[in-house]
Amino acid sequence: MTHYSRRSFIQTVGSGVGAALTAPAFALPTYPDAEPNRKLNVALCGLGRYANVLKKGFAESQYCRLAGVVTGTPAKAAQWKQDYKLPDKNIYSYQTFDQLKNNPDIDLVYITLPNGLHKEYAIRAAQAGKHVIVEKPMAFTVRDCREMIDACQQAGVQLAVGYRLHYEPHHRELMRLGQQKVFGPVRLIEASLGYQLAGTPPDDWHLKKALAGGGPLMNLGVYCVQSGRYVLGEEPIAVTAQYGPVTLPDLFREVEENITWQLTFPSGAVCTSATTSNCTIDRFYAAADEGYFELNPALSYGPFKGRTSQAAFNFPVVNQQAAMLDDIGKHILAKTPLPDHIAGLEGLKDMRVIEGIYRAADTGSRVTLPPL
Ligand code: NAD
Repeated sequence: MTHYSRRSFIQTVGSGVGAALTAPAFALPTYPDAEPNRKLNVALCGLGRYANVLKKGFAESQYCRLAGVVTGTPAKAAQWKQDYKLPDKNIYSYQTFDQLKNNPDIDLVYITLPNGLHKEYAIRAAQAGKHVIVEKPMAFTVRDCREMIDACQQAGVQLAVGYRLHYEPHHRELMRLGQQKVFGPVRLIEASLGYQLAGTPPDDWHLKKALAGGGPLMNLGVYCVQSGRYVLGEEPIAVTAQYGPVTLPDLFREVEENITWQLTFPSGAVCTSATTSNCTIDRFYAAADEGYFELNPALSYGPFKGRTSQAAFNFPVVNQQAAMLDDIGKHILAKTPLPDHIAGLEGLKDMRVIEGIYRAADTGSRVTLPPL
């Protein structure tokens, strides 16, 4: 995986779909000036699979340093201490978490815990005076998200959601093609993501309502919802949804195994999605008046492959996590508000839709989404 500069990123995005598409790049917001020679000191909270994925992001980040950990497992504490040369004072357990408030050498807590613990630890981190990144899904309800946003505001810290795809050039290109109506207005989007979960241990937290909040909709569907919202640049107004078949009844006792939904947007565009635990699917397709654009694969870690009705588009692979950490680090170091696409309100906007999808599937009725 190669990281490349923001300038080459923008140049590449701008020229990525062939001669017929010469509109300016859909660039990331300009980085503010951060303090020179200073990195944001981050404590990772929850050292599971995704924390391990983030290691490479930290290794490549110019503005964030892995400076501490929070874990309930002494063996992991010892390993991470050794790997990152962490001082003992920067290693916390869930019992000592609140003592972070006495540690000026930690600026931000990045929460990679199971979903059901995001709200509690985000609020406790804010109360300890630390900035927060929380993984997706931000929480289980709009009300939870508001509490997290309010707690961070009251504490004077910033709250980010780990939306890495906003830093991925194929997705920046989807935003440009959709929002700038390069092929005319988009009428229909299909965006689906699923993985085969047969063989998962029945005690895995992803299968437990209290820790997961739901099934693949909470875990993966959030990416489908996001892509519809950021390609159209609109917020959906209504939703219909249907639960799918249960093919693994021994595993899926508490959360859905399959769910399909249809979002209606103010322009009249429809985004139809499925998320599933019984097969692998990973694709995005947008049909517009004068053509189409698609990614396949689309919503996982990549590498992604893009095509429009005119040409293929493919950009170099970026480390999405490093790019995200750098953007967050630069803004916090410069004491400027985080961009909207990564701030807490973005997570709340997704949760408004996800709550509506569950309500529509539970009731079998079309649900009008409440105003934001
Ligand atoms: P994981 O199970 O591998 O890791 C979770 C960690 O939390 C483990 O180290 C576990 O020991 C710890 N933990 C603490 N209290 C726990 C409890 N009560 N029950 C269970 N575990 C507990 O999970 P993961 O795949 O790393 O996912 C963590 C978070 O990261 C989730 O919110 C997930 O949605 C998110 N995630 C994001 C991405 C992404 O691409 N942005 C990818 C994967 C996961």
